[in-house]
This record gives sequence, C-alpha cells and structure tokens, in this order.
Amino acid sequence: MRLSRRIEDIEVSRTVRFTTLIERLRGEGRDIINLAVGEPEFPTPPEIVAATQAALARGETRYGPVAGMDRLRSALAETFDGWGPGNILIANGSKQILYGLFQVLLDPGDEVILPTPHWVSFSQQIHLAGACPVMVDTRRHQLDRRALAAAVTPRTRAILVNSPNNPTGAVYPPQDLAWIADLAHRQDLWIIADEAYAFFVYDDLDHQSLFAHEAIRDRLVVVRSFSKSFSMTGFRVGYGAGPEPLIRALGKLQSHLTGNVCTFAQHGALAALDLDPAIVQKWRLELAGKRAIAHGYAERLFTCVRPQGAFYLFPDISARLRNGQTAEDFAAALLEKTGVAVVPGEAFGAKNHIRISYAVPEETLVAGFERMEGALNREAG
Ligand code: PLP
Repeated sequence: MRLSRRIEDIEVSRTVRFTTLIERLRGEGRDIINLAVGEPEFPTPPEIVAATQAALARGETRYGPVAGMDRLRSALAETFDGWGPGNILIANGSKQILYGLFQVLLDPGDEVILPTPHWVSFSQQIHLAGACPVMVDTRRHQLDRRALAAAVTPRTRAILVNSPNNPTGAVYPPQDLAWIADLAHRQDLWIIADEAYAFFVYDDLDHQSLFAHEAIRDRLVVVRSFSKSFSMTGFRVGYGAGPEPLIRALGKLQSHLTGNVCTFAQHGALAALDLDPAIVQKWRLELAGKRAIAHGYAERLFTCVRPQGAFYLFPDISARLRNGQTAEDFAAALLEKTGVAVVPGEAFGAKNHIRISYAVPEETLVAGFERMEGALNREAG
C-alpha cells in the first residue's frame, strides 16, 4: 500500500514488540509484572469522577469552545501570573499540545534541540513537522551546557526542556534553567517546557518552572497535563500556556484537527483544580518511598543515578550485557525469563539503559526486583 512519505518516515513505537510479547506470555498463563507503565497506579480521585458524572448527567455533552472551557482556561491562567485565559489552550493531553507546537512553530529543515535521553514522541513529532530533532547527550542525566550551546545553528528554532524528565527522572536545578533561559534569549530560540511531571518532585524540592523567567515569556510555552498529576491519563486533558499569538495559532490547528476536548472530561479537570492538595502530597510521599526501594535494588544490580522526579529509574545496564546484546535484547530476555517488563533505552534514544517505572503497588515493585535480582545473580554465578 502506498502511504505518505511523512508517515513512512515515522518509527512505530519501540514498545510494540513488548506489548505483543506481554500479551503472548499472559495468554500462556504467565504472571507478568509490568514495570514498563507510564502512569501512576492511584485511582482517579472520586471528586474528579463525581464532577465528570455530574456534568454528563446535566447534559454537558455538546461541542464546546475549541480552545477549551472558559472557566477551565481562566482557572489555569491564575497559575501563570500576568497571563490570562487567552494564553491557555486545552488539548487532548499534552501530547496534542506538543504535536501542535511543532506544527505551528517549525518549517521543513528547522531544528529543535532535544536533550537526550528523551521521551519517545518528541523526535517523531518533530519529524512529522518535516523538521529535524538535534539530540544532545546529557551528563549523568543533567544538561550539558557546553554541548547544548554548541548544538545551536542558524536553523535552530527551539529547545525542549523536560523537567522532571521521562525517562530519567532528572530534575534540572534552577541555575541550569536560568542558563537555558539566557541561551534562548541570546540566540532567539523558543523554549518548549514540558512539565507533565511537575507534581512529582522529591527530596523537599519545589517544582521549578521556566515561567519564573520573565524575560523569556514571549518565547516560552509551558506544556502541562492533568494525566499524571491527578491520575487521570484516560481523560486526555492537557494544556499549553504561552504568548497569545502562539495560542491562537494552536487553536486554529486544533479547530481543524479535533475541536474541543471532551466536554465532561474538562469538568473533571476543573474539579481536579479544587482537589485537596493533601491528596497529591500523599501520592508524592508514597512515590518517594517507592523510589527509595527501587533505587536500592537498581544500585545493586546496575549503575543507577538517583532521580529526583517523575516515577522512573533509568539505569545503565552495560555491565549486564553479554555478547553484543542490546538493551532491547536484554529487556526481551528479562521478560521471557522472569515475566518482568521494562522499557529498553533505545525507545528514548539511549543505548545500554532500561527504564523502570516504580509507580506500581509496593509489593509488585518488590516482587519485580526480586525476580530480576534472582535471574541476574543466577546468570552471574
Ligand atoms: N510529556 C511527557 C514527558 C510524557 O511522559 C507524556 C506521557 O507519557 C506526555 C508528555 C503526554 O502525556 P498526556 O498526553 O497524557 O498529557
């Protein structure tokens, strides 16, 4: 079948091989422990569910404004001092905001600097816009200033900053964010700040947003989501906050793409903003505890930087690879042998690593690591 070159050039998600394998093994009756998940296990808070159901019962089932419900946009704008509802666009998850941003900001041949390892969809979405992702390796998962500065060319349009980071869990310190803001200002670049994991920072850190840097507000777009923050991934509500002309351009695209986000889901999002902050704080504490457990195991088994955010570990597994094995081979063998699923680093542009999610019940996490440890020790012995 002849399909467009645009879609042929995009890679199928590297995790598909694993989804198929997991399904086959489950079909054979194997007990699979899934540490490959990209969402928190917490149930969606009942207040959010009730508000969504009430909206449905009231008949909030019609088309709404393309850019999102006015009340939701206004409520979100309050978290961006000096910006109003015209600076906010609600979309079907932050994934759609990101897709839209690359479409409205980039022309073919333009470049976007992408600190790597990076979340799977960034590079493919940049390709879909006909532009070029320029991967810049991080150092111990932190930004490498010299390498970033050297990557800027006359074609560079934007730099993507994802902190807390998927897949590494890295949180960038304020001085690095200030440096990025200054670089963007000097080099006339856009900053796309993906803050999907803003709520998940540990060690008494506060989430630092690039929005704090007033001088770059005309070149900054902050991308956030209700998905992870309120355990409502299936609602598909995310948002972008940025200069009004950019938000209008995103709205124009969205008007031809999907129109408004599901009306009653937006009512659920509105209720999320009124949620008792103690709920999310409890989740954060729970995840910090699981991070400690997971990191304890991962340090023994691999080489593992201690992350401060999101809910992933991204250990270097080089010492465990045998006879030219790749991380993808390692993850497939681990799944076959132990029934534990992780994501190979290749999915994130990084060899010799795996991503392990610890946003699972504690007993599942411990059981998963025990199986891994048993198998790896048997191999070593
Ligand atoms: N950005 C990052 C870094 C992510 O990890 C994800 C989801 O895994 C997204 C954006 C998209 O999330 P959503 O579309 O559910 O808001």
